[in-house]
Amino acid sequence: MKTELVKPMGDKNSIYDVVIIGSGIAGLYTALTLDSKYNIMVVTKNEVKECNSNYAQGGVAAALEEEDFNNHIKDTLTAGSGYNEKSVVDVIIKEAKENIMNLIDYGVNFDRNEDGSLKKTKEGGHSRSRIVHYKDSTGEEIIRALIEESKKRKNIDIFEKTFCVDLIKEDSKITGVILQKEMKRFDVKASKIIIAAGGIGKLFSNSTNSIIATGDGVSMAIRVKAEVMDMEFIQFHPTGLNIDEERNFLISEALRGEGAVLRNQKGELFMGKYHPLKDLAPRDIVSQSITYEMELQKNDGVFLDITHKDSEYVKERFPQIYNHCLEFGIDITKEYIPVIPIHHYLMGGIKVDINGKTTINNLYACGEVSRTGIHGANRLASNSLLEAIVTGNRISKDINKNLAKIDCKSEINYYDLKLMKEYNYSNEINEIRNIMSSNVFIIRYETKLKEALEKIQKITDELEENNTIAYYEVRNMLVTAKKIIEDAINRKESLGSHKIFNK
Ligand SMILES: Cc1cc2nc3c(=O)[nH]c(=O)nc-3n(C[C@H](O)[C@H](O)[C@H](O)COP(=O)(O)OP(=O)(O)OC[C@H]3O[C@@H](n4cnc5c(N)ncnc54)[C@H](O)[C@@H]3O)c2cc1C
Repeated sequence: MKTELVKPMGDKNSIYDVVIIGSGIAGLYTALTLDSKYNIMVVTKNEVKECNSNYAQGGVAAALEEEDFNNHIKDTLTAGSGYNEKSVVDVIIKEAKENIMNLIDYGVNFDRNEDGSLKKTKEGGHSRSRIVHYKDSTGEEIIRALIEESKKRKNIDIFEKTFCVDLIKEDSKITGVILQKEMKRFDVKASKIIIAAGGIGKLFSNSTNSIIATGDGVSMAIRVKAEVMDMEFIQFHPTGLNIDEERNFLISEALRGEGAVLRNQKGELFMGKYHPLKDLAPRDIVSQSITYEMELQKNDGVFLDITHKDSEYVKERFPQIYNHCLEFGIDITKEYIPVIPIHHYLMGGIKVDINGKTTINNLYACGEVSRTGIHGANRLASNSLLEAIVTGNRISKDINKNLAKIDCKSEINYYDLKLMKEYNYSNEINEIRNIMSSNVFIIRYETKLKEALEKIQKITDELEENNTIAYYEVRNMLVTAKKIIEDAINRKESLGSHKIFNK
């Protein structure tokens, strides 16, 4: 097989056993753990690095010693309001070590202590330090290493700027994918398809997420009638940098793990009023508390204060955050950081079992797009990278065990498309984001949710069919928004990240 990372599509002689949609940690790690006898196609709609994984700062939560298993399990269940699937939590936490070791084998340089042991940090909701990390840019380091390792593998081809429009379903099983590169179409048949297409952040006006996060994976799963659930459970991160930027920069929870505290606009500490764990309470609680505090103070935004820590330590431990804030004139070693809660993560998604299998034959899902049940109603910090690697490895084991090479009946059909209409959809995108951010945010009201549903339906009804990637993205945003709102309306009681008032 060819090894170059980027190559033109359309080689009709390429035969793929497995197609993976997405080149984040879920997609690349799964590709690497699959048996090298399989030919693997990874498609990614932007450049290979552009994904949420690349922006992860804090690290990977991993109970590396057996004595920590029960604590990590307990912290995960507490954060998730007990709505988690306990058996899934057990498996994912207990298989952390094997997968962290794989990452190290693939070349990930986690920070180490002088004696060579892995450095560990703490974030909100964790009862002890167990998060392995690379400074404050863990995701970038992991993605760097996984891309380099993938390049070495002859059986993995990665296609950049290649958009998966839909899945091909025949006789109630998935048999391939419909891909589009500019105005060229490729129908690719393969034995197993893995959706690793990430999250939904770009449905909101303010989000930490990459531009790729438009709910494509969830939406394509809905179209083939795979079960999608718990979409009302969306994590809003308490501390997005409160400065106007296209992708809201995240101020990692690891700062609070290292002693930073939240202050209101009067400079007062306030988390003690809302939760005994104060600034290190689970994320849903901190985001909701900041929202209440902003309402109380009648202003928008609070501050994060790490000025009391040694400035050299802060610069060394959080170089990315320090430098980014400095670009906006904020020296975090001397000044408070303006922060505000923003969209961050999707707990719900495509329902999968512990081996990443969806409810449709031959279709797997992995990473943020999937709903394994580990997170419950609110994700414990740094459990998502962990979920992606453990599930990715389990998907690979399932395929490695069950897919005979002979099963492969791959083919690629290629055809040119004729542009139906030139149109950029910026009005529709802005409308969707405004609706989601004003009606489906941290505090929800049933009447506002119903109003949002009507508005989303109206945009959907008025959307003229087209055959551009921009059209398919907007269509996916609308399908995903509708499902989020419907699930939010159907859950009448507040639980975890879903805070609802029935009025
Ligand atoms: C700023 C930030 C900080 C974070 N920090 C942490 C942390 O410290 N610890 C932690 O555990 N989690 C963290 N998270 C969450 C975590 O990074 C993500 O949940 C995780 O990386 C998701 O990985 P993924 O592979 O599922 O998706 P992604 O990494 O987002 O990858 C999705 C891939 O799918 C591709 N794709 C999407 N749609 C299509 C399509 N239609 N066709 C083709 N390709 C498509 C994209 O191009 C991309 O390659 C953070 C998230 C953000 C945004």
